[in-house]
Amino acid sequence: MISEVLSRETCAACRFCCAFRRQSLWELPVFSDEAVAKLSRPNGYGAAGFAFRNGRPVLDDAYATDDPEEEAPCPFLDPARGCTLGEDEKPFDCRIWPLRVVDRDGTLAVALDPACKAIGAEPPEKLVALVRNGLGKRILEYAAAHPEIVVPWRDGWNVLESGQVPVRSD
Ligand code: SF4
Repeated sequence: MISEVLSRETCAACRFCCAFRRQSLWELPVFSDEAVAKLSRPNGYGAAGFAFRNGRPVLDDAYATDDPEEEAPCPFLDPARGCTLGEDEKPFDCRIWPLRVVDRDGTLAVALDPACKAIGAEPPEKLVALVRNGLGKRILEYAAAHPEIVVPWRDGWNVLESGQVPVRSD
């Protein structure tokens, strides 16, 4: 969704957001029900089927040590090519990264996660324009229907779009 700002090639070379420490497993992307159903069975990604828990890939057996700083890659990350998933299976979280939907005092907002090494904490003008020219509203609409992608607000994040969309409680 933001490939005109952040290219696939840049993401494939970095892969920072595709590996997870044990304490960061809550950051794993949430897959759609359709993608989970497809990827849990023998599929075109060269596997007999992947394990999911609450829509997220299971990484329990992916760690080689007890080091809390060890990072395990998402099972769909190819070390050479980056993410192997097509757009139909790729989680919404991954399609909008490094944009995140945050719960800011009970209202949803689209913010830039400063952890992205390619973009950093300051949003480029092109990204701001993309979000304010429609993408932000589409993201907020999706998040209102899929509250599982909403993350807590963190100080220092730049908000690019804030709507009057209350956080759903159910
Ligand atoms: S689904 Fe793809 S983009 Fe998302 S974390 Fe896994 S490898 Fe990375």
